[in-house]
Amino acid sequence: MKALPGSHASRTHARGPLALTLASLACAACATVVLAQAPASQAAPDPLALSRLWDAEHVDLPAAPLVTHRDVEARLNAVRDASPGLFSLAEIGRSVENRAIYDLSFGRGRFTVLLWSQMHGDEPSATSALFDLFEYVRRHRAEPAVARMLDALTIHAVPMLNPDGAERFQRRNAQGIDINRDALHLQTPEGRALKALRDRLRADVGFNLHNQSWRTSVSRPPRPASITLLSVAFDEARTMNEGRLLTKRLCAVIRDALEPLAPGRLGRYDDEYEVRAFGDNVTLWGTPVVLIETGPWSLAEPDRPPVRLNFVALVTALDALATGRVAGADPARYESLPMNESQLYTVLIRGATIWAGTGVAPFTADVAVGTARTVRTANGRREIALTGRIEDLGDLRVYAALEEIDAAGLTLAPNFLPSARQGDTITLPDRATARPQATIAVGQPAQLLLLRPTGAPGSFVVERAIAVGER
Ligand SMILES: [Zn+2]
Repeated sequence: MKALPGSHASRTHARGPLALTLASLACAACATVVLAQAPASQAAPDPLALSRLWDAEHVDLPAAPLVTHRDVEARLNAVRDASPGLFSLAEIGRSVENRAIYDLSFGRGRFTVLLWSQMHGDEPSATSALFDLFEYVRRHRAEPAVARMLDALTIHAVPMLNPDGAERFQRRNAQGIDINRDALHLQTPEGRALKALRDRLRADVGFNLHNQSWRTSVSRPPRPASITLLSVAFDEARTMNEGRLLTKRLCAVIRDALEPLAPGRLGRYDDEYEVRAFGDNVTLWGTPVVLIETGPWSLAEPDRPPVRLNFVALVTALDALATGRVAGADPARYESLPMNESQLYTVLIRGATIWAGTGVAPFTADVAVGTARTVRTANGRREIALTGRIEDLGDLRVYAALEEIDAAGLTLAPNFLPSARQGDTITLPDRATARPQATIAVGQPAQLLLLRPTGAPGSFVVERAIAVGER
């Protein structure tokens, strides 16, 4: 077991397979020494500066859901070829459909970090962020922060562990198995490749990189859970040990880095033990794991800002490990994060008079729209398709949404007039006899008209045509 870089802990501190690496952290005196030894230049990187650096230098890739295995292969080869002395590229296995799974490694330190992304094929944000990390290391390797990282750490990254799922933009692999429930059965070649790499490296810490549902929220009133962190448990009792202390401290470091960039949008995942999951078992096998779940950001820009957050999180966490600064992080900064909930929709229309199109008399309600994204190929090009559906209606005051519309004094109707434009004056048909194709009901498409009464019976001005997703 290796000491955390920058610490003076010795192997004699280690106690058994789970008492790894952070012997010094168990001892307050040691941690004090580590901090005292850290020169001023080892202050935490400025997250706003890292964010601006990402804006200026991030790799020009398609939107994260559109990145294919072919893009990953091309990018990995380009990274390796641009700096062959810096990066090593190795194939660690093949997917069910024979797509290569790669490990890109760099650094020469004694402390080993293992990161993997897109174990679920439709959870792509961190794959793009890993490429931005590689580019950052390549461009800035002569600068002290990166030179220190390369001296102190050996970093192994597996971008897109589930390439067959990514090709279909689906969670599961080509066998239809959720790889993240296959850590014990090991029936998936992708899972076997990850386990074999973990066992060979016996990495000192791991990062398991996912995306979570756009329904995920934090706090009351709810806000989007743009990044959720988890110090992964390795048993039902959620026992604390040095490994979990390290991952809690890393989560604290990440929280502090991301808070200025995503205030109120950071959360904590339930640390209930999942006996079949990779994060839990990798932790049990001796590599404590930090789970980073990327969540909703905004409807207008759902993909790029979350990649930027992942980049800042990863650079800051690796820097904290390389400098030993992580030893001074307070686990309470992680433990005090609000827990994930599911109180978020994509669009919420509040307080409208509902003309439902079902024959019922108008009533007052909030209407919530949820969305699902798929990737399809049209004319030889991959593109993201968004579907919007009404998911709830009634008193929805306990929920929030990425976009909220105040509809007090307005009437909401299904869009029975696709040609209607803002400012048009229209007449609503007789509700008792009208049976429009779409209605306002759970499961119906999110194609709606927001109408302002003119005062004349049945007459309205179109305030807004609301269209979430395709017709
Ligand atoms: Zn996932």
